[in-house]
Amino acid sequence: MILLNPGPVTLSDRVRRSLLLPDLCHREDEFFQLQEQIRTGLLDVYGLSGDTRAAILLTGSGTAAVEAMLISMIAEQGQLAVVENGVYGERMTNIAQRYGIATVPIRHEWLAPIDISRVAEALQSNPELTHLAVVHHETTSGRLNQLEPIAELCAEHGIRMLVDTVSSFGAEYIDFERWPLAACAATANKCLHGIPGVSFVVADRDALAAAGDPERSLYLDLANYCRQQDQGGTPFTQSIPAFYALREALSELTDHGGQVSRRQTYERRISKVRKVLTELEVQPLLADEDCSVVLQGFHLPQAVTYQQLHDDLKNQGFIIYAGQGDFAKTLFRISTMGDISDADMQRLLEALRNTISAD
Ligand SMILES: *Cc1c(COP(=O)(O)O)cnc(C)c1O
Repeated sequence: MILLNPGPVTLSDRVRRSLLLPDLCHREDEFFQLQEQIRTGLLDVYGLSGDTRAAILLTGSGTAAVEAMLISMIAEQGQLAVVENGVYGERMTNIAQRYGIATVPIRHEWLAPIDISRVAEALQSNPELTHLAVVHHETTSGRLNQLEPIAELCAEHGIRMLVDTVSSFGAEYIDFERWPLAACAATANKCLHGIPGVSFVVADRDALAAAGDPERSLYLDLANYCRQQDQGGTPFTQSIPAFYALREALSELTDHGGQVSRRQTYERRISKVRKVLTELEVQPLLADEDCSVVLQGFHLPQAVTYQQLHDDLKNQGFIIYAGQGDFAKTLFRISTMGDISDADMQRLLEALRNTISAD
């Protein structure tokens, strides 16, 4: 089965085999070496230095990392603006409000691009804001949010950015040099091609220190993880198989040419899908230049339900993904992350032609 859902992804053989490595105790040197290799490997994906930044590893899904980032990087009296244009932006507001963090949501429709004038207005009229949270690739629609203009505004206002890069880290470009990033959060099982179970936050060390270790959560306290991981330890039991897989996936990413090359691979794959679907008169949800290379959304062809399309493709070995919320009835999504061979891609394009023209 080839997974075309936005994570977990189809594993390569070498990542799958790494799951069979020996049992480990998480209080032994072998584990600490594994942990350190992953922390360094994650920083290496974007050429970052461990002096100024820390990759902090958690056992949990992507949402755990996003939640840990929001509640650990904002000081007790800090205030947060959240730019929303999809499920994951809205989820960040939900998280922040549950912890009683003063939050200013900047709401948009799910298909809308971020309106920079509204962000500017929100920053103007809320001088107490300390942070701004935004999703990089909003997986709801497949839109790659343009973060440069937001980063410029934040820099002008002295606001630090917290970015959900769960479905972009490892594939899309993230400007760690110029954007005023306090942190970004991501997971092993999307563009990095590991298994679910480990997620992480890449934090600016000064920004983490400046937050002053707010005590909002025991388990999701990044300052605690960071302190202990820096000393070659871990506060809690980690998912060791997921760590093995992530280490292997990171070394595979390096062997395959790193983030830039992964982006090109994804782009090549998704543009083939888009081309074939467009030929079949299936309409893409967004203009090409607005889409990530990771996932694209398409309007369901007339007279085909999502369930039919899903089941037909599943019978041919491919798992596609439904729309969320109100989108469930009108669209479908395809992601081409993971270990997908050229032959698999050919079969996929054939399967799409067969399924959609037959209807
Ligand atoms: C997948 C995803 C998440 C997290 O999902 P989990 O199911 O918790 O791993 C968060 N944000 C975005 C943008 C995502 O695509």
